[in-house]
Amino acid sequence: MSECLFCKIVSRTIPAALVYEDELVVAFNDINPQAPTHVLVIPRKHAASIAELQDSDGGLLGHLMLAGNKIAKLKGIADTGYRFVVNTGAHGGQSVFHLHLHVLGGRHLAWPPG
Ligand code: AMP
Ligand code: ZN
Repeated sequence: MSECLFCKIVSRTIPAALVYEDELVVAFNDINPQAPTHVLVIPRKHAASIAELQDSDGGLLGHLMLAGNKIAKLKGIADTGYRFVVNTGAHGGQSVFHLHLHVLGGRHLAWPPG
């Protein structure tokens, strides 16, 4: 996926402010943060969205969310609370088509989303 923005972040072809990485995922600060903490966690392996995942990807998906928990602790928002968001497709508001988990926190987040 040489044209994919987030694949380029994984390969370090374009820079990002990395906050966490391991063998399966990379996490970096969102370039346009919507909260004091706004981190994106992405699988190293390209998938356009969560809708593409198969039953066999359950381990990867669990790993992605558990990485989100680690990032919440690293960022000091584990106790005050945080939100995971996975925008999917047009109505979901997805704009980058490489699966990513938003980790948002550091302020009260309204519900429901607009
Ligand atoms: P979504 O709308 O769920 O697809 O989220 C895409 C997110 O990627 C948005 O919150 C953008 O601000 C963020 N984003 C786009 N380009 C970059 C980049 N180069 N580095 C970090 N975050 C980015
Ligand atoms: Zn990609």
